[in-house]
Amino acid sequence: MFWADLLLQNRKGAEWVNDAWTPSGIIHMGGLKGPVIHDVLFKILKEQGKKVKYTFGFDDMDPIDGLPPELAKSHEKHMGIPIANAPSPDGKGSFGDYYGNMMADLFKKLGIGAEIYLASDYYRKGIYNKAIEFVLDNAGKIRKVYSDMYQKPIAKDWFPLQVICPKCGKLGTTKVTGWDGKEVLFACKVDLVKWAKGCNFKSSISPFNGTAKMSYKVEWAAKWWTFGVTIEGAGKDHASAGGTYDVAKKILKDVFEKEPPLAFAYEFFLTGGKKMSSSKGLGLTGQDLLEVLPSQLVRFLMIKTPPNQAIEFNPRSRDIIPRIYDDYQQAQAKGDVNHRAFEFSQIGEKEKIPEIRFLTLTQWVQMPNMQDRIREEGLENWAKYAKVWVEKYAPDDVKFEIQKKIPKEVERLSKKQKAFLRKIAKELNKKWEAEEFQRKLYEWAKELGISSNEAFQALYLSIIGKDHGPKAGWLILEYKEFVQKRFMDISSV
Ligand SMILES: [Zn+2]
Repeated sequence: MFWADLLLQNRKGAEWVNDAWTPSGIIHMGGLKGPVIHDVLFKILKEQGKKVKYTFGFDDMDPIDGLPPELAKSHEKHMGIPIANAPSPDGKGSFGDYYGNMMADLFKKLGIGAEIYLASDYYRKGIYNKAIEFVLDNAGKIRKVYSDMYQKPIAKDWFPLQVICPKCGKLGTTKVTGWDGKEVLFACKVDLVKWAKGCNFKSSISPFNGTAKMSYKVEWAAKWWTFGVTIEGAGKDHASAGGTYDVAKKILKDVFEKEPPLAFAYEFFLTGGKKMSSSKGLGLTGQDLLEVLPSQLVRFLMIKTPPNQAIEFNPRSRDIIPRIYDDYQQAQAKGDVNHRAFEFSQIGEKEKIPEIRFLTLTQWVQMPNMQDRIREEGLENWAKYAKVWVEKYAPDDVKFEIQKKIPKEVERLSKKQKAFLRKIAKELNKKWEAEEFQRKLYEWAKELGISSNEAFQALYLSIIGKDHGPKAGWLILEYKEFVQKRFMDISSV
């Protein structure tokens, strides 16, 4: 059974699916997994006829606590300020808008049906006021959750809230030390964190309507409580035992006295068994991924494997990206093991799916005279992706170029290999089907007493200057006249 159907079996009542992300940097391809997985759950619940909502928060009240290298200088002074209040690198809107708009664009391309909300907007509108009051009133219970989970005492003057310093605008540097039912007492500390310096201002302020933000784990529970979230998964980094997710669930249970939403953890993408990391040049951004896979196939990649299994993804391997296309084509069939994943990969109107294998298409796009055929067979869309894969990622043995001059390497060819080329050149006077011709190549090699390795090496060297290449039968017939002349020239020396 499809993992998502299994997860959603026998549930009762209306549902609220939620997920969130902090808009503070370029979206890594793994960052699309949460939005897509939750979207599939949302769509299955709709299919079941449930009353269901799917919301996705951009957590732009979080303070900026790190910067990509290209912004290290220009944005250093904004460290500690809420993402929503710092300027965008391109001068339009906020720092959070800059990355948030990129994510919203990816959502659109991927057909993700979530209602996006900004944390800053919800705080300012007072949507979390009730929760803020509740967690301040019950700070003692929250301290107890923390001391139980972390096995250490929590100071009595610790509160699960930070305010935006009215003087310097920073949130990451403030510490709340008291609550009188109306206002919180706070200090903006010079050395509270390493990444930002506070201004030493001390005062009291009302914590409502956007002046303050709950600490991350408490905020997570407060969101569940405020909205009535029934389903929210978490990435592996949050979902480890005793991690953020566990603490948030315990706060919801012990402090808010509610049952936590349906939980599930999702794994990372791996490259060569290691966590994919953009800083090490191993990762793809969400945008990169959508350049090499159509939206439907991105969804398919994210959901065909159960979320709790890591997905090995090396874009340079000839077994990974081409394989996703193969699996997707097969999954069209009703009885296929991935058919449900295929169904929930569809966006909008159903598209006709090419029958040609992606790897074959990667060869076609490298043959200039195949352009008409690609058009005639309606393969332009996938051909666009095939070109990107060949140009950016494909291993060398997939790439080839017809050599306009006779490659120097043909000097290595033996008499028998040359005889093989001559035989092909003669046979090209007849009319051939590619499949049949491919079979004959093996026969002729045998007749001439050379191994198929030697035979194919001879023809590839002569045409593309490499030992290996695309399916020879196709290649030769596509360039029939050219190949015939080339093989005659070489074999007559
Ligand atoms: Zn300050």
